[in-house]
Amino acid sequence: MNAPVNVKPRGRQFFNNPGPTNIPDRILRAMDRPVMDFLAPEFLDIQRACMAGVKRVLKTDQTLFMHASTGHGAWEAAVANLFSPGDTVLVVETGYFSLGWKEMVETLGLKVETVPADWRKGVEIAKVAEHLAKDKAHAIKAVLAVHNETATGMVLPLAEIRRAIDEARHPALLLSDTISSLGSMEYKMDAWGVDVTIGGSQKGLMMPTGMALTGVSDKAMEASRTSKMPKYYFNWQLMNSRMPQRFIGTVPVHFFFGLEESIKMLEEEGLDAVFARHARLAEATRAAVHAWGANGKGPTLYGQTADRLSNSVTTVLMPEGVSSDGLRKTALERYNLSLGGGLGPLMGKVFRIGHLGDLNEPMLLGCLATTELAMKTAGVPFAPGGVDAAIDSLAGRA
Ligand SMILES: *Cc1c(COP(=O)(O)O)cnc(C)c1O
Repeated sequence: MNAPVNVKPRGRQFFNNPGPTNIPDRILRAMDRPVMDFLAPEFLDIQRACMAGVKRVLKTDQTLFMHASTGHGAWEAAVANLFSPGDTVLVVETGYFSLGWKEMVETLGLKVETVPADWRKGVEIAKVAEHLAKDKAHAIKAVLAVHNETATGMVLPLAEIRRAIDEARHPALLLSDTISSLGSMEYKMDAWGVDVTIGGSQKGLMMPTGMALTGVSDKAMEASRTSKMPKYYFNWQLMNSRMPQRFIGTVPVHFFFGLEESIKMLEEEGLDAVFARHARLAEATRAAVHAWGANGKGPTLYGQTADRLSNSVTTVLMPEGVSSDGLRKTALERYNLSLGGGLGPLMGKVFRIGHLGDLNEPMLLGCLATTELAMKTAGVPFAPGGVDAAIDSLAGRA
C-alpha cells in the first residue's frame, strides 16, 4: 500500500474551473491604483470607454447597464424590469443553470412553462416553435435561454431560437444568459435578435467576480416601462435617470479600471482571434477526452450533439460507478489543479474542464496532462494517449 503523501502544493495553481477564470496580471495591475471620485472627468472617460467596449463585445448598439452584482443579480434585474406579477415566461431547458433561472423566476411570482430537453443532446428547436405556436393568446411574455450551459458544456443556437419565435409570429422577448460564453465564443446580440443579454465579469472577461452587465433592446426598454414588479436598486428606468454614470450608489471604480484593460486585451488580440483560440483549445480538450474513453472504460464527453459542444467548457462523464469527487480532490490537493465539479444531478457523475478566458496552449496541456496524472493516481480507469491527441489536434491547427 502506498504511504499517504503529504504534499504542499507549490507553484501557481492551474485554475481550470469554468468560472471564475484566471485573472491576467495586466488586469490585476490595472486595478492596483488609488481610488478616484466617480464623478471626476478622468473616471467618466474610463467608464464611457468601458460601456462602448462592452457594447462592441456584445455586438449591440442598444442600451447597456452595469450592476455591482453577480450574474444572478442581473437575472433578477431582468425579471424585475420586464414583467408583472403573474406573467408567464417560457424557459428553454438546457441544464442546471436554466433550471436555476427558472427557480428564481417562479420564486419572484411569475408562471413558468418549460420546453424540456435531454441535457446530453440539447433541446429540439422545433419544440420551442411548437410551444409558442400553441400560445395563441400570447400569454408568454418572454423566452429565457442560457446561451452556453456551463453545467453540460453545450451551446444553444440563439439565432435559431429567435427564428422559432418569429416563425410562430409570437411577440415574446428573447432573454439570454451569456455569462460563460461572452468574450469566449461568438455572440451577436443585435443580429440574433436578442432582447436582453446577461453577462458577468468573472468568466470570458477575465475579471474578479462582482460585476454584471445587461444589454437591453429598445423593445425590452419599452416593456420595462409598464412592468409592475417591485424594484429599486435594479430599476433600469431609475438607473437611466442617474446620468452620467447610470448607476445607483457608489460606482465601483476599480471594476471599471479592470474592465478597461480587459477590453483592451480582447481587442488587441481581436475578438475573432479570441474565439478561434477558444475553439482550438476546446477541440484539443475534446480530442483528449475521446482518447481517454477510446477503450470503452474511461471517461467520455457528456455532450452528445457534435455541433453544440461548448468552446469554453467541456463536461466529462465519469465511467459508470466511478465518482469524480476523488479525481478532483487528488487533482487539487496533490497537484494544485482546480477542475470544476458536476452541478445538481450531475454531482459526482461528471467533472468539468474550463478552458476560457486567459488561457493558452501550455496552460491547457498542463491541465490535460495533470488530469491524466490525477486519474492515474486516483485509480480512475482511462485509455492512455489523451495528451498526445490534444497535441496532435493543436499542431494540426497551427
Ligand atoms: C457562472 C454562471 C452563472 C452564475 O453567475 P454568477 O455571477 O455566479 O451569478 C449563471 N449562468 C451561467 C450560464 C453561468 O455559467
